[in-house]
Amino acid sequence: MGSYLPYYTLAEGAPLPRNDTIEQVSTGSGGGHVLLTSTQLIEQLAHFSRERIPERVVHAKAAGARGYYEVTDDVSDITDADFANGIGKKSDVLMRISTVGPERGSADTVRDFRGFAVKIKTAQGNQDFVCNNQPVFFVRNPSKFPSVNRSHKRNPATNSSDANMFWDFHVNSQESIHALMFLFGDRGLPSSVRHVNGYSGNTYKFTKADGTYHYVRMHIKTNQGIHYFTNSEGAELAGKEPDKHILDLQDAINTGEFPSWDVCVQVIHPRDIASAPIDIFDMTKVWPKKQFPLRKMGRLVLDRNPSNWLAEIEQAAFSPSNMVPGIEPSPDPMLQARMFAYPDAARYRLGINHTFLPTNAPKSEVYVPTERDRRMNFTTNYGDDPNYVGSKLKPMNFKGTLPQSGQNGHAANQMKTLDQVETTAPITAFTTVSDNDFEQPRALWEVMAKQDGAQERFINNLAAHVSGVTHKMLREQTYEMFGKVDAKLGEDLKKVTEAKLEGNHAHPHKTAWH
Ligand code: NDP
Repeated sequence: MGSYLPYYTLAEGAPLPRNDTIEQVSTGSGGGHVLLTSTQLIEQLAHFSRERIPERVVHAKAAGARGYYEVTDDVSDITDADFANGIGKKSDVLMRISTVGPERGSADTVRDFRGFAVKIKTAQGNQDFVCNNQPVFFVRNPSKFPSVNRSHKRNPATNSSDANMFWDFHVNSQESIHALMFLFGDRGLPSSVRHVNGYSGNTYKFTKADGTYHYVRMHIKTNQGIHYFTNSEGAELAGKEPDKHILDLQDAINTGEFPSWDVCVQVIHPRDIASAPIDIFDMTKVWPKKQFPLRKMGRLVLDRNPSNWLAEIEQAAFSPSNMVPGIEPSPDPMLQARMFAYPDAARYRLGINHTFLPTNAPKSEVYVPTERDRRMNFTTNYGDDPNYVGSKLKPMNFKGTLPQSGQNGHAANQMKTLDQVETTAPITAFTTVSDNDFEQPRALWEVMAKQDGAQERFINNLAAHVSGVTHKMLREQTYEMFGKVDAKLGEDLKKVTEAKLEGNHAHPHKTAWH
């Protein structure tokens, strides 16, 4: 082989001195007929036609990097999670921060929520926190999840984004008003992914082996400060530097400016949920900070860029169902739906064996001999260990401690804690909207009142989008909806939007959305 160096090979290893060989029968007068024996050519053509994998239906465009989670504060009173205990302990982390609606090739500097996905590789398996950069979501009824996303994407007839679809959905699902207040505020167009927070939005449980538990929401707060672009800055950069956010993160890491976030939790004891001012399982509401202050538990640092995008970031699969002992789901319907939908999306997009990929594989031992075979299995596939439950034969490949008789599989302390909330918690009517849904948006409007020009920017951002609505009745319904947050907001929105429309004769259906 030495004589071939530098050399290439075929996919199955046969060395070749070049990577552009074809075999052909020359006609003698130019050109030639290519032979089916041109294995290298055939491999290359076949590979090229197949090299794309399906892009994510949402969260397709992203920046991503690796780093670590470090425990900074003691939370041993509320969770046994190994990675979260022991001040100074570090665990490997993969993070991916994305836009939501636009496609994989789209520009970064657009107004949209950001997905903020974190995979912590712990001694007890992977812990994923699949957050957004806003603390609330548009809907609380999971059956609306596909619809809200479709309404933000392309019209199926025209294949272009459509403000009519967007507002038709939102005026008829007004529980989304709180999320809309975030989207059209300054934080809806971040200047980089280093300058955003991550919020779980969903309610989790932190649990202990003694059966005690607390409800928590994660707040992952940027140490770089919150920075944003205006609509016109975003639009200009979308043309000039469409990959702005990806490159910004890579540059920061390359120059040793490692971005970091403080990881905090809001905590509620189960006995306090009945007296909480909101349904704590409703993803359209925040937990008021004065009543439920943030408690720091650790920090995230990104210090390594990917060396290959597909291998490390595109093939990464995050799921809220990846939880370690000490963290559990709560009776939060959106969380439960996401626990199904995210791994289901990965099974479709990457295949059922996506957990074997190095970027997803946990660092801890995996032993599930009842999940084996399947396409593209490159493991030893559990040898002759029983592939059925109930066996009392000692498995060959099992490296852990066998459960004592009477215990079912894993350690007994991994049995889930039972929620006692069914009869005590206020139950949100998940499909109806009430005045209560406008209280927290109103509080956010007041937060903006204290920030120089924030309300004015909000109205302009919103008017730029609503002016794309061609149905007058739909525009009126939109003004009315924002009028319920604040009467003057509704009036000003109408004034600015209608003035824009009067001055905008060409292409009235075009929006500043993408
Ligand atoms: P506070 O009044 O104590 O604080 C308001 C919070 O709003 C800040 O801490 C900050 O969150 C966030 N914020 C500041 N400026 C903006 C902005 N321009 N756009 C969006 N968010 C901003 O919070 P309360 O708990 O009393 O809630 C008041 C309102 O604040 C809520 O109705 C909600 O809309 C909003 N909010 C609340 C959060 C919560 O978890 N309680 C989180 C974020 C916003 P941060 O420190 O996380 O950056």
